[in-house]
Amino acid sequence: MNSIFADLPTTVFETMSRLAREHQAVNLGQGFPDDPGPLDVRRKAAEAVVDGWNQYPPMMGTPELRRAVADHYRDWQGLDLDPDAEVMITSGATEAIAGALLALIEPGDEVVLFQPLYDAYLPLVKRAGGVPRLVRLVPPAWRLTEEALAGTFSPRTRLVLFNNPHNPTGRVFDAGELELLARFCERSGAVLVSDEVWEHVIFDGAEHRSVLALPGMRERAVKIGSAGKIFGMTGWKVGFVCAAPGLMKALSKVHQFLTFTTPPALQQAVAYGLGKERDWFLSTRANLQRSRDRLAAGLTGLGLPVLPSAGTYFLNVDLAPLDPALRDEAFCLSLVAREGVAAIPVSAFYAEAPVQSVVRFCFAKTDATLDRALERLSGVA
Ligand code: GLN
Repeated sequence: MNSIFADLPTTVFETMSRLAREHQAVNLGQGFPDDPGPLDVRRKAAEAVVDGWNQYPPMMGTPELRRAVADHYRDWQGLDLDPDAEVMITSGATEAIAGALLALIEPGDEVVLFQPLYDAYLPLVKRAGGVPRLVRLVPPAWRLTEEALAGTFSPRTRLVLFNNPHNPTGRVFDAGELELLARFCERSGAVLVSDEVWEHVIFDGAEHRSVLALPGMRERAVKIGSAGKIFGMTGWKVGFVCAAPGLMKALSKVHQFLTFTTPPALQQAVAYGLGKERDWFLSTRANLQRSRDRLAAGLTGLGLPVLPSAGTYFLNVDLAPLDPALRDEAFCLSLVAREGVAAIPVSAFYAEAPVQSVVRFCFAKTDATLDRALERLSGVA
């Protein structure tokens, strides 16, 4: 079978989770919390199933959820979205990303991406016929610079696939970087597709700024969100796409033939969840921030150099100061087999010239899980 998909290796997340099971390791690799999620939201889903929300809902999403998404982003991010024309529900953010690429590029169009990049992006861009152009982010700052953008954008740039807060670096791009990116998109006439699934997982009092709020971007950006990340229930696969009606028209045509709809009971539960009081979201952040700090302090105490994490479930350790010859992949394979802790080598997020000294740990775990991992890591540095 001759296909770029057939030739792809299994994703690093699946591979590391399998190794974690085989070695009975503490799994700080694949990003998922180890608590079951908010009880009231889970109850709503169960009730909705029992109440009969089990047939095809409207293709664009239930009216309740589309309204809840628009209200939520008005309250949290100051966006003014028409729920009937500018919001669509997908089966997870990954469907939304795949759909945006299928809807918005033609074979041969250039697509700007930022590496390290989430592993789904590049194969999907290529399969849609896009020609990838990669902006390289470099540790420890992982900054977006004018120089890097100028070297990557061209008059053939049709789409930019962006991610903020950024997985795997844990970076939250600042206003200057976002405005710079918006300027380049405007100048080249590109659509900015922004994976903002970590928008609520943001620390130290920061507030998320959506690309839809950037100057000149309201009509040329697509914002993608995820209930799985907002409520810490990653298996739910309920995504939200927000875009101006002109873009939404094309996005909805792809969605109708990719998955068509998303389980209605989950949509009703997410609609309820998005309306939860402000304090719930803030205390969820505060708890995750405490977990970040607990793992960071523990790893630092063991002599592992920790890089800052301003958002996402992840923090990174830079092996370079320990031993410049250490490679992330070998380190992770030995960690899972010998110490019984799974982590993700960040080189897996590069398409070319990988940074090979950085290892990603997921801290969205109970204190007991984090402490168990730290205990097992005690001899590692
Ligand atoms: N988003 C998750 C992570 O970065 C992985 C999701 C998956 O396994 N496909 O860990």
